[in-house]
Amino acid sequence: MSIFLVDEYKNMEPYVPGEQPSDKLYIKLNANETSMPPSPKVFEALSKKEIWNMGFYADPNCKEFRQAVADVYGVTEEEVFVGNGADEVLSFILMSFFRRGMKIYFPDITYGFYRTYAKTYGLDMEEIPVKEDYSVDLKDYMDLKGDIILANPNNPTGLSNTMEDIEALVAKDPERMVIIDEAYADYSGETALPLVQKYPNLVVVRTFSKSRNMAGMHIGFAIASKEIVEDLNKIKFSFNPFNLNGLTMAAGIAAVKDTYYFDKCVKSIIENRENFKAELEKIGFEVIPSKANFVFCKSKEIDSKTLCVKLKEEGILTRHFADERLKDYLRITIGTEYEMMVVLIAIKEILAEASEEKELGIKKAI
Ligand SMILES: *Cc1c(COP(=O)(O)O)cnc(C)c1O
Repeated sequence: MSIFLVDEYKNMEPYVPGEQPSDKLYIKLNANETSMPPSPKVFEALSKKEIWNMGFYADPNCKEFRQAVADVYGVTEEEVFVGNGADEVLSFILMSFFRRGMKIYFPDITYGFYRTYAKTYGLDMEEIPVKEDYSVDLKDYMDLKGDIILANPNNPTGLSNTMEDIEALVAKDPERMVIIDEAYADYSGETALPLVQKYPNLVVVRTFSKSRNMAGMHIGFAIASKEIVEDLNKIKFSFNPFNLNGLTMAAGIAAVKDTYYFDKCVKSIIENRENFKAELEKIGFEVIPSKANFVFCKSKEIDSKTLCVKLKEEGILTRHFADERLKDYLRITIGTEYEMMVVLIAIKEILAEASEEKELGIKKAI
């Protein structure tokens, strides 16, 4: 730490993303990304023309990109805010609508970045405990005085709340902002987007990192009232007007328009998720019913941290969280059919080895 860092940032705890090792080739199922390529239209969109145009600044209003998103989601361009990943969009939301010391509520088990942001912006965060089964009970949030952020489906559990319950929460207090992070909503088939035009206190955040196979491009967007989007743009233009570059927007436009490829990829992940869950259950795993592109699971035969380490030795990355309430589980991203087959074989081998070792141990003891 240098002597220049301001006091309030000295105790900041930066977010720790899933590891991206480069020592060998891995099947990467630790950060809810995908090995599937983006839409073939993206390959065409990133043409030489875009490179020639690099000498010019890209449109800071992101008009064409916002319009493309608006067309696909049935809203107007004025209701779309775009940013460098859902993370940056969330950051602009907190920067625009929260002040130091302001209250923000979110579940105690959820996307770790909310805690990081709350600390970065000096917010008075309160984490509402999830239920025994990890579900988020929105009744706990109904009477809270202060803004709320929820990931739906939630990460790392994959559990989701119904739209009826979300609508009731949003409708309860029009002066309270409810931010719904729908990073995984494409895999659940449920979205709060239709509620945006009815409730001006609702902000829905989306990303291209998961269901559009474009984590490396890092594109996110929010859909909210025209007034909220106007505010967000005002703050953006006071901080970093060129938050999306030309190449990124060209790729984003091509990807969002290709609904055929998108539907096909989402459908395949859902199918692989259900098959993988069924296979895990056959070998005694407990699998939380997930509506996302990952499963949160545990085995009675082996502890999840050991399984995570052994899978890594086999060239498969998964995510284990050290938190007391999460440490019994392993989060495995759903990849291609082939990847899931390889993971399953590896898990079966590791379990067989573990039970052999156990038997040997017993024999030795006798
Ligand atoms: C992955 C994830 C994000 C991050 O999305 P980016 O667009 O890559 O910044 C946001 N929210 C949740 C809940 C996520 O799991």
